[in-house]
Amino acid sequence: MRVPLIAGNWKMNKTEGEAISLVRSLMQGMRSFSGVEVLICPPFTALSQLHKLLVSSPIMLGAQNISDQESGAYTGEVSGRMAADFCSHVILGHSERRAYYSEGEALINRKIKAARRSGLVPVLCVGESLPERDSGRAAAVISGQLLGALENVLLTDPGEIIIAYEPVWAIGTGRSADPQEISDLISTVIRPVLSGLWGEESSQGIRVLYGGSVNPINARGFFSQPEIDGALVGGASLDAGKFLSIIEKTQ
Ligand code: PEP
Repeated sequence: MRVPLIAGNWKMNKTEGEAISLVRSLMQGMRSFSGVEVLICPPFTALSQLHKLLVSSPIMLGAQNISDQESGAYTGEVSGRMAADFCSHVILGHSERRAYYSEGEALINRKIKAARRSGLVPVLCVGESLPERDSGRAAAVISGQLLGALENVLLTDPGEIIIAYEPVWAIGTGRSADPQEISDLISTVIRPVLSGLWGEESSQGIRVLYGGSVNPINARGFFSQPEIDGALVGGASLDAGKFLSIIEKTQ
C-alpha cells in the first residue's frame, strides 16, 4: 500500500548546466520503471530550469531546505512558497543542517509547518550519531527528534509527510546500517511514535525511507524489508547510472 520512493539529495553539487545534463541522463533511463516514485532534490539555483525540463516527466522535484519564515527581511533565505513554484517536496532536519547550521527541533518544527502551509511534503530526516548509538540511546534520540519536529503538525493524509531514517554515522561514510536492524527500528520506534501522533492507520500509511551510503550493490537488501519504503540517496544520486540502478532494485 506504500509506494516506494527513491529520493536523491544532491547537496551543494552541480551548476545549472551540470544539473540539466544529469537530469537528461536520468530521463533517458527512467522509461521502464513502474510502481516506484522518484524525487530529486537539486540546489535551488537549478530548480527553475529543471522544472521546465521535467514538466511531463514522472521525476519529482524537491528542495533541500526552506526558511521557517513566510517572507520579508531574511537575507539569503528561500521561503516555502518560493520553493513551491518548482517543488513538491522539501528535505528538512538533515543531519548536515543540524550539525553545521545548528538546526534544532524547534526550528525544524517551524520549517515543517511552513512547508505544510506552502503545500510542500516535508521529508523529515532523523537519526542517531555513533556515540548515541554506542551508548544505547538511538531509540530515545530518534523519538525525541520526531516528537520535537512534529509537535502540533496536523495531517489530513499520510502522504503529507515522509520520514527518512538516516543514522549520522552512515551518511557519506560508505558504512550502511543493517537492513534488519533498520526494519526493527522502524517498527518498534518510528511507527509507534507516528501512531501516537496521528493514529495507527495513518502511521501505517506514512512512508519511512532509509538513508546512509545506499548504493547499487546494497540497495536491494534495504528494499526487500517491507518496513523500508525506499531510500534517501546522497552521493550515489549524483551519478545517473548509479541512481537508476538503485531505482531498478525496487522492481
Ligand atoms: C544523505 O545525505 O542524505 C545521504 C544519505 O548521503 P549518502 O547516501 O552519501 O550517505
